[in-house]
Amino acid sequence: MPKLQANAGPNSKTLALDAEFASSEVGRELARRLGATPGSRARLAAFGEDIGEFQRGRPGAVITPKDQGELRAVLEVASAEPPLPVYTISRGRNWGLGSRKAVDDDAVILDLSRLREIRELDLSRGVAVVESGVSQGELSRALAGTPWMLNITGSSSDSSVVGNLLERGVGFVRARAEDLRALEVMLADGSIVRTGSWSDGRDDMHRFHRRVGVGPGLAELFVQSNLGVVTAAAIGLVPRPEVLMVLHGRVPASRFGEAVAAVRRLVRDGAINCVAKFLNTQMRASYGFGQPGGEYVLFAAYRGTATMAAAAAAEVRGALAGVVEALRLFRGPDEARDEMERRFSRLYLGEPQDISVYELAGARTLEIDQQGTGGWLAFVPSLVVEPEVFERAAGLCMEIGARHGVPLGITFNILDDSAAESLVAIRFDRRSAVETQRAHAALDALHSAFREGGMGCHRTDIAHQSAAALYDSARTQLLERLKRELDPLGILAPGRYGVGSTGS
Ligand SMILES: Cc1cc2nc3c(=O)[nH]c(=O)nc-3n(C[C@H](O)[C@H](O)[C@H](O)COP(=O)(O)OP(=O)(O)OC[C@H]3O[C@@H](n4cnc5c(N)ncnc54)[C@H](O)[C@@H]3O)c2cc1C
Repeated sequence: MPKLQANAGPNSKTLALDAEFASSEVGRELARRLGATPGSRARLAAFGEDIGEFQRGRPGAVITPKDQGELRAVLEVASAEPPLPVYTISRGRNWGLGSRKAVDDDAVILDLSRLREIRELDLSRGVAVVESGVSQGELSRALAGTPWMLNITGSSSDSSVVGNLLERGVGFVRARAEDLRALEVMLADGSIVRTGSWSDGRDDMHRFHRRVGVGPGLAELFVQSNLGVVTAAAIGLVPRPEVLMVLHGRVPASRFGEAVAAVRRLVRDGAINCVAKFLNTQMRASYGFGQPGGEYVLFAAYRGTATMAAAAAAEVRGALAGVVEALRLFRGPDEARDEMERRFSRLYLGEPQDISVYELAGARTLEIDQQGTGGWLAFVPSLVVEPEVFERAAGLCMEIGARHGVPLGITFNILDDSAAESLVAIRFDRRSAVETQRAHAALDALHSAFREGGMGCHRTDIAHQSAAALYDSARTQLLERLKRELDPLGILAPGRYGVGSTGS
């Protein structure tokens, strides 16, 4: 680790920064400001690779600050003339959407994976305060044996809680953004602001009991945005249920619409209270479940007491009879009949499962960006929970998959009785230039077709972040005004979600 001299600002001091610099314009300039001599570039090379094979986002430098002091010092150095772009990641497992890459080439990647403290676990109220580098595996392990669990995603144990939340990721119990109670954010000028009732110096029971405090809610400003660097978050936990009842069945393509309507009713009535998922054949295959057949598989769950679960089971059986085939209701991993049931049960219970990542990438390591042969791109549209909308989305995917010669994996995630998002996954062989090119053409086509069909993005990759595609002009203008106010030099993640890029 080189000892670097931060000499760009008035408060300059010697920093033992963990840093690597490219021989690019930004890399050389940052190294000069820090008085660094380029050493190893192993991490830099690793950060330039991603499982989606995006042809952009090559890093100019990678800095892994160990605390807020170092983070502030880096922002100060980046703010000298000319300002240098920095791009924050929490753990950088943004697989399929760009991994650890920035929207544009030659940014300084600020990797917060060393901000790793679980600052607080409030087991009476069910709140965890975690720094941005804390992984979902670390937090779920810290909660083992407590009355609380974490709403986890299907991604790896070493993916983050905070970065996923800032992307509006989806957990198995609910959308991750719904776990958010408060954020701690470092602004471009190095000052710290906290949202909701989490204000500086206050230490009472009302800090995290709800997301908003008095006055305008500020947390949303920092989600899918580039207005600050989030350093920590207060996360609402999920009560560990007395009973987890998992629902598993097959849905023939001809009954898909009916099944969507039935599940929506069950969600509305509370008989399903976790995220309900419909997975097509290709999606199951990419997770290592290669059953044949053109039908969807449905997974959903109910968390509650035994009495309530029995009542929910009766509702589920009544609503899904004749629509869902081979319907099984079972109580968690112990009653699972196969690997897929076991894996999904554990995910509903807050236990991350790395195996899906291995299967998908053809690797036995989580360093799939460097070592996986399987390529993966994700398209994540936002959907209304209506049978015809799901059928239209599935039809578009089939048509685009066939046209480009790439089978598309689809998961429909029903978040509540109104909102859903879909994960459309494109798998390809990274070693083949033809397959890689075909996969990216299919991704472009999905973006265009869904936009034209009135189905916008829920979340998007580094190559599809133009403001014109995401917002109307009034919204773009307001976001640009906020950006100029909070980050006048435009150093923070230029172009992320269409704001602050030189082109927008
Ligand atoms: C098999 C598999 C299953 C998956 N299942 C799911 C799933 O169920 N649900 C889901 O949501 N995703 C899923 N993913 C996608 C992805 O892996 C996860 O979303 C993962 O959590 C994202 O990586 P991360 O948490 O390390 O976030 P990061 O990569 O660190 O962050 C994502 C982005 O947020 C911004 N950001 C991050 N941290 C900060 C910060 N501190 N301040 C400001 N901005 C910041 C950056 O722009 C960054 O690029 C899956 C992927 C695979 C391969």
